[in-house]
Amino acid sequence: MATQRTMTDYCVTCGGDQVHRRLDRKEEDWLKERLGRAGVGEFWLCVNVLDPDTGRQCRNLRTGFNKKPFAAPIKAPVLE
Ligand SMILES: [Zn+2]
Repeated sequence: MATQRTMTDYCVTCGGDQVHRRLDRKEEDWLKERLGRAGVGEFWLCVNVLDPDTGRQCRNLRTGFNKKPFAAPIKAPVLE
């Protein structure tokens, strides 16, 4: 069975259940650097659209089991 690429779960910055997706390769590299970790496979990114005009997404990070894995929320930047 293919790995599930999205899930709906609670986002602490949006304040409700939102669709999250897996990080892409560049985002994983960024987060490894950001956290100083070798693996970041447990993280999910909130794709809730905050601004319908620009399509800007929340991009807050959580893990599958922990809705608040950081002391302060970390949102992934939009990477080229
Ligand atoms: Zn969110």
